[in-house]
Amino acid sequence: MKFGTKAIHAGVHPDESTGAIMTPIYQTSTYVQPEIGVNKGYSYSRTQNPTRHALEKNLAAIENGKFGACFGSGMAAIDCILKMLNPGDEVVSTNDLYGGTYRIFKTIFEKYGIKFHFIGMQNAESIGEYCNENTKLIWVETPTNPMMNVIDIVAASKVAKQYNAILAIDNTFATPYLQNPLDLGADIVMHSVTKYLGGHSDVVMGALVCNDGEIAKEIYRIQNSSGAVTAPMDCFLVLRGIKTLHIRMQRHCENGEKLAKFLAAHPRVGDVHWPGFETHENHKVAKAQMRGFGGMISFNFVGNKMENALEMLKKVTVFALAESLGGVESLIGHPATMTHGAIPKEEREKIGVVDSLIRLSVGIEDVDDLIADLEQALK
Ligand SMILES: *Cc1c(COP(=O)(O)O)cnc(C)c1O
Repeated sequence: MKFGTKAIHAGVHPDESTGAIMTPIYQTSTYVQPEIGVNKGYSYSRTQNPTRHALEKNLAAIENGKFGACFGSGMAAIDCILKMLNPGDEVVSTNDLYGGTYRIFKTIFEKYGIKFHFIGMQNAESIGEYCNENTKLIWVETPTNPMMNVIDIVAASKVAKQYNAILAIDNTFATPYLQNPLDLGADIVMHSVTKYLGGHSDVVMGALVCNDGEIAKEIYRIQNSSGAVTAPMDCFLVLRGIKTLHIRMQRHCENGEKLAKFLAAHPRVGDVHWPGFETHENHKVAKAQMRGFGGMISFNFVGNKMENALEMLKKVTVFALAESLGGVESLIGHPATMTHGAIPKEEREKIGVVDSLIRLSVGIEDVDDLIADLEQALK
């Protein structure tokens, strides 16, 4: 089955008792057992719930995986992966990554005796230089936030296999419509479902997808033990969101390309970071592992003045100033003071998060209105 058909049909069946075409919101904590030890596959909603189950099967299908698991947020999904590790284990991670991921690594799991190495992975073969017999997890975000670096998943998976480490990919920016890491050798795919998968800025949720039965067993054990599960109503909303993922992503990509080109041609704009440009450092890798370049763009100003960025944020009227990304509406943000404000200036400037950097999550509005908005705000 192709992507759009899977997005709409995988995991969902008309309700057996009523014929309802949409999966009901099973707003229940428990399930009546006809006798002890007998149930219909559900015993308690932390362990499993029919609405969540439908979504987990749908997510697995669109990521070309066998097993899916949903969590109360993207961070809860990352937390689950880290709980598979033991004290003394080491993790090699992308250095240009989601701020919350950096925070959970450094401030939660480091104190349990797990060691983290943050490195640039634009040359993925170099990952091996930071691996040893204690390396149990390689954490890759691609494209990265907010610099839109692209990391070669096939090359990273070769290193992971050599060291017997799990390769986990944060696929939030690309979505399964543009990139399927399991097909490229990854062991676990992680999503902040909050973003493109939900797609309507109305749910916070996370997910993991994998193919390996042993890894899946661990994920489900931790999901049930730690209990960071997601609610049936939210699962319903995400099932609805995913039905239009392929259509939305097509428009995100089209609008993203037009805005990236508009910005690159603007005299006040300095560097534009978008993997679709042939001049992008890893454009070749992006072309090989992605089916499109998405709607996330970052750029800075000629002269790199923070006032220029802050002034633009005040002037936009269609773009909304907000954290998050991946919804139908266009958002604009300032990483240096918002998402990456916790990282010291020197550290963030090393990876390119300069004072005038602006990040756009290009929505699916009419692109002429988006261009006009940026044009007047750049004046
Ligand atoms: C938002 C985000 C997360 C965290 O997900 P939440 O749903 O906000 O907990 C992780 N990784 C990336 C790339 C994100 O954009």
